[in-house]
Amino acid sequence: MLNRNFKINNQKYIILLFIAGILIILFTMKYINNKIEEIKQNEFQKEAISIKKEVQKLQKIKMTDTMAIPIALSYNTLFQKYLEHKINVNLQKTLKKLSFSFRKYTEYKNVWIQVIDKDGVSLARSWTNKTNDSLYKLRKDVRDMIKSPKIMSRISVGKFTLSFKSIVPIFNDKHKFLGMIEVITHFNSIIKKLKKEGIETIVLADKKYKSQLTNNITHTFIDDYYVVNFNPNKDILKLIKEKGVNYFVNDKNYKIYKNYLTTTYLIKDIDGKILGYYILFKQKKFISNETINNFIYAISFFGSLIILIIIFIIIYKNKLNIENQKKYFESILDSTRDIIVVTNLKRVIDANKAFFKFFKVENLDEFRKNYNCICDLFVEENGYLSKKINNKHWIKYVFNNPNIEHKVKILLNDKIYYFSVRVSKLNNENNKLCTVVLSDITQTEVYQKKLEKLSITDALTNIGNREFFNQNIKKEIKRAKRYKTPLSLLMFDLDFFKKVNDTYGHDVGDIVLKEISKEVKSLLRNIDLFCRYGGEEFMVIMPETSLDKAIILAQRIRKSIEKLEIHPVKQITISIGVTELKEDDTIETFIKRVDNALYKSKENGRNRVTSF
Ligand code: GH3
Ligand code: MG
Ligand code: MG
Repeated sequence: MLNRNFKINNQKYIILLFIAGILIILFTMKYINNKIEEIKQNEFQKEAISIKKEVQKLQKIKMTDTMAIPIALSYNTLFQKYLEHKINVNLQKTLKKLSFSFRKYTEYKNVWIQVIDKDGVSLARSWTNKTNDSLYKLRKDVRDMIKSPKIMSRISVGKFTLSFKSIVPIFNDKHKFLGMIEVITHFNSIIKKLKKEGIETIVLADKKYKSQLTNNITHTFIDDYYVVNFNPNKDILKLIKEKGVNYFVNDKNYKIYKNYLTTTYLIKDIDGKILGYYILFKQKKFISNETINNFIYAISFFGSLIILIIIFIIIYKNKLNIENQKKYFESILDSTRDIIVVTNLKRVIDANKAFFKFFKVENLDEFRKNYNCICDLFVEENGYLSKKINNKHWIKYVFNNPNIEHKVKILLNDKIYYFSVRVSKLNNENNKLCTVVLSDITQTEVYQKKLEKLSITDALTNIGNREFFNQNIKKEIKRAKRYKTPLSLLMFDLDFFKKVNDTYGHDVGDIVLKEISKEVKSLLRNIDLFCRYGGEEFMVIMPETSLDKAIILAQRIRKSIEKLEIHPVKQITISIGVTELKEDDTIETFIKRVDNALYKSKENGRNRVTSF
């Protein structure tokens, strides 16, 4: 009962645990997913900020570098002399050479240099032969410089492109303003540097400058935005075209588009007016996912740890349960006085307390040291099990014959015990084990035996009674007939016994009966069966004895009684009849013949032997 309840509870418990486990896994997965998404966004956010910072830094460097060139040139006396004295020098050629050197030796592949005089007339340009045209009316920055000469540096959109521009004034020794040197550099070097860091960049000039870019260099526009790059990455350009520039140019920090993280950095002039944009692309796979990895590592580590702990708890609990169950069943088995043994027919595997108590051993090893098998202690006797029955192991025999009562007689420390035996197979995996239950029936068995003996014993003489005679005569006749061995029967009756009773009393008569029995018994062999047939009539069944031997014994008995002194009786004699079993005899004819022989002895004068 308890066990069954336990099983049902256990099942419910397992189902609940299973459902709880699935829910926990689902929630954990959802949590991990959210967390990873959050970490990713953080990571993207950080990456976008870092890209922008990099662009800002590169732009600042570019700006100062662009300024450094005309400052350096302004100290070259060649330009001072040329502007003050119009010396005979091919200025355009010099600028071209300078530009060529930059291209050859520095990262500045696109540097444009122009020299302008104090009235705003362009004296020489590095990129063209065009000269002596006035820029005064065309360009506000030129006018500003003439009005108040000072170093100017900015990003601006001209008619060629969006570029970095620095204008530095040139003075003579007396600080007289002579003119200016203008240097223009391109975004290309920044784009290249970013590319080296895994960032693809498209630099666009704002669409409001479309009409202004009359002599634009690249001839490339997307949605009216001018593409500043000389050799823009075609795939990236395609991506921008697909979605439209507006999609990328917005105030969001970053966007994920296709495999890219994309962000935009605004290009502004000094007044904060938007001139253009860096549209920056970084492939997602190049973005460090160290944080995510760390997170996953931590989750896996703690997850595994929790699973390990759960497994450990389940195993421990199970073990505890099994141990409790084992103790529970053990206590049941120990509570009975029956000996219970688990065996594989070769050796005892397990046993209960009653077993150890009976065999007076501490443990199974001790038992095994003394005995190979419980059956070593069996006493072989009719009606009790022996080691092998019909060549079969006793346990197998008992198991195969469950409807018969099986008993064993055991001799242990000179004491006899009787047990009833039951065997059942154990329901284990290999089905090779069985339990043997030995119930102590010694008391009832001994009592039974006593009763049996009493029922066939004569109370006065302590020899067999008539029932004993009836049982044995049948058996012996059968046996003699089967094995063709001789069988003789002897019957005697006390002579004038009535007189003994009458003379000395009934008690003396009883003593005479007892003494005669004792005397006769002493003359018989073990196999002879002696019994009191009636009041003072006795029978001796003599197996394997022929008539002549029976007669000899009869005479010996007769003489011995004749000599017997039983005080106060003077003498007592017996008359004897003897006969041997014949082939066609029945019990009745056999007894009748011996009775007739006895009668003949009486008739012929008593104290004699007659044989038929
Ligand atoms: P015989 O056999 O020689 O012909 O003479 P008998 O006197 O022995 O013959 P009978 O059969 O007439 O007498 C048998 C007597 O045995 C009768 C009975 O009182 C006595 N007797 C029978 N059983 C017992 C017994 O258990 N105790 C005593 N004391 N006497 C017994
Ligand atoms: Mg008699
Ligand atoms: Mg008689």
